[in-house]
Amino acid sequence: MYLSKIIKTGNKTYIYDALNNNFAEINSEEVILNDALYAKFLSSGTFRDIKKPCEFDVKYPFSKDELIDMFACRIKNMTLALTEQCNLRCKYCGYMPKYMDTNYTLKQMPKEVAFKAIDILMKNSQESEVCNIGFYGGEPLLRLDLIKECVRYISEKYPFRKPSYDITTNAVLLSDDVTDFIIENHMKVVISFDGPMEKQNKYRVYGSGKSSYERVYGNIQAFYHKNPQFFRENVVYNVVMYNGASAELFESIDNLWISDVNMIELFQTEYFANERDKSDVIKKDEKINVKAYDFAYKNMLKGMKKYYNSFNGQTGGNTILPGGFCVPGIRKNFVTTDGKIIVCEKVDESQQIFEIGNVYDGIDIDKIERLVDETIRRLEKCRHCWAAKFCRICFKDILNINHDFCEKSRKEVEGELGYYLEHISNDRDLINYIANISLI
Ligand code: SF4
Ligand code: SF4
Repeated sequence: MYLSKIIKTGNKTYIYDALNNNFAEINSEEVILNDALYAKFLSSGTFRDIKKPCEFDVKYPFSKDELIDMFACRIKNMTLALTEQCNLRCKYCGYMPKYMDTNYTLKQMPKEVAFKAIDILMKNSQESEVCNIGFYGGEPLLRLDLIKECVRYISEKYPFRKPSYDITTNAVLLSDDVTDFIIENHMKVVISFDGPMEKQNKYRVYGSGKSSYERVYGNIQAFYHKNPQFFRENVVYNVVMYNGASAELFESIDNLWISDVNMIELFQTEYFANERDKSDVIKKDEKINVKAYDFAYKNMLKGMKKYYNSFNGQTGGNTILPGGFCVPGIRKNFVTTDGKIIVCEKVDESQQIFEIGNVYDGIDIDKIERLVDETIRRLEKCRHCWAAKFCRICFKDILNINHDFCEKSRKEVEGELGYYLEHISNDRDLINYIANISLI
């Protein structure tokens, strides 16, 4: 079978044709495996003969000129790494090797670097529906002074522009004054928090080893009670699932006055592999009834958007770019303390391939082309993959595409696609709900 897959759900069996992005319900997989039944199946409809060889042509969808045009007026975001310093020492943090290295001096972003990044965004976002500045770290609230200067700089230099702001924080410094400032400037707040006390305290600790739950939970609670509506509309949690999903974890997050939650899979650093409690490595995900948790059900439906888009748009044909690749230089742009621009905060900052410019010269089209060429080269095997249209791969993964990554991604697609076909595709209310989800 070429670029196709039999998908079995609880009650039904489907055949999915990835080339034409088409599916059909069948009585059993025998319909495909038995030659006589298969011939009958083909003759009774317009389904492609999936036993005939074919492959995808993997291409990046934008030309150099189109990218240059986009960089001139459609940049959406600059996320500023204000400091490498942090007031916690979370054991799975990517900065841990730097924190442990007594010869390394943690860097701070100078004001000029922040202002230059802001200038690039302001000058090159005139036609963008989004114009956002992110404050990131280390812990960005250690540079509250610089955050305030950035906000003042924008209101003085660009009085007619109203960018949106977000800040990603561990909430240790989320004091009364800070939340006043956040509310006044309508900032979105992404709080890194791992849920139940025991989970938060296991790895999200101070340098002394002291636990952080009490302080963080107290700050979150005070923030919510100060302005529940603002909190519900603007606060998101980033939860690292270092020990898989569990009902206990979902229950505790569901009780945090949430609006939105990003469940983040652990990216295991070498440091953490040595440090972690070995007993939590082997625990597998529990089967969870996601419908029982509002945030989890919403997240799941959000995940269905790509299937909805694909079955309701012009996505057939053999030329594709697998997965959810963004346009580098447009969607995120992570600015390091010393002014390098890299694709986003999730890529490995130490890998040169992800560097796409700097705040002095702007986005560098040659570096973008280098990244795109390398990506296409690494996606060679996606030509033959039935899951390519829905695979979760993006730039952050290109250095890690291996057998395990692909197995996991294909399993995810199989489960999600099965859910979409069985539970969503015929439910008008859910289809309407998903159609209106915005992924910006
Ligand atoms: S699962 Fe692997 S081969 Fe398939 S599209 Fe994703 S990265 Fe490519
Ligand atoms: S995580 Fe992937 S898709 Fe998202 S901004 Fe980063 S590179 Fe782009």
